[in-house]
Amino acid sequence: MKAQILEQIQKVQRRIDMACQQAGRSPDEVRLLLATKTVSPQKIQWALDSGIRLIAENRIQELREKYEALQSVPHTAHFIGHLQSNKVRYLVRHGVQCLHSLDRWSLASRLERRLIQEGRSLDVLIQVNSSGEKSKFGVSPEEAEAFVRRVAGLERLKIRGLMTIGLFSREEDLVRACYRRLRELRDHLDALHLPGVEMKELSMGMSGDLEWAIAEGATIVRVGTAVFGPRPYPDHYYWNEGGEMPG
Ligand SMILES: *Cc1c(COP(=O)(O)O)cnc(C)c1O
Repeated sequence: MKAQILEQIQKVQRRIDMACQQAGRSPDEVRLLLATKTVSPQKIQWALDSGIRLIAENRIQELREKYEALQSVPHTAHFIGHLQSNKVRYLVRHGVQCLHSLDRWSLASRLERRLIQEGRSLDVLIQVNSSGEKSKFGVSPEEAEAFVRRVAGLERLKIRGLMTIGLFSREEDLVRACYRRLRELRDHLDALHLPGVEMKELSMGMSGDLEWAIAEGATIVRVGTAVFGPRPYPDHYYWNEGGEMPG
């Protein structure tokens, strides 16, 4: 099992290297994030033995369940799922360093209050709905600038860039258009030089399309199934509001 996971990680890293080479980018510019939803702490530990340090959960419940077991293993935890405002305290307490899915003001202000109480700050990426699908969370590209300006006023939230879940499609042009939109938006926001805002990260691309995301400028690719194998339920179960597991 462990050997298999390490082998899959190597394969993914080779894909990243190849994609960087083709895009004329340095592999140092792209970080591999392991999306660990439904993956056991044991398997996550094996994966971390590869030297990869960046992992992320989607659901607060899973973050809480795995927290103890992973505490002694060096890693950096991000959070990539839709976050309900009433669960903010767990995110802050369980050592998450970066939230990829900041998508509304009510969540931002809740986070700010909790971070002040806990005496820490949090890196955030603004989640953008780059495909225009109603089912996807995220601010629209048109709303993004106003939202970033507003969040920039919060002292404890450190804006580091943008995140998107692209169109779920095998059509390269359509998928890449989403990722390109995110990059252009990042460049636009970066050029505003807003105080306290760092517009560097582009979190985009998953197991099926990381090459396209890297070609369009991804700095973090979020990979689950290509490393850990298929999950028991289709993705919309994990992405739904509330995120209740079936059965
Ligand atoms: C699960 C998940 C991923 C990884 O998806 P795979 O197709 O398994 O690589 C990436 N981003 C988010 C937000 C996820 O929930």
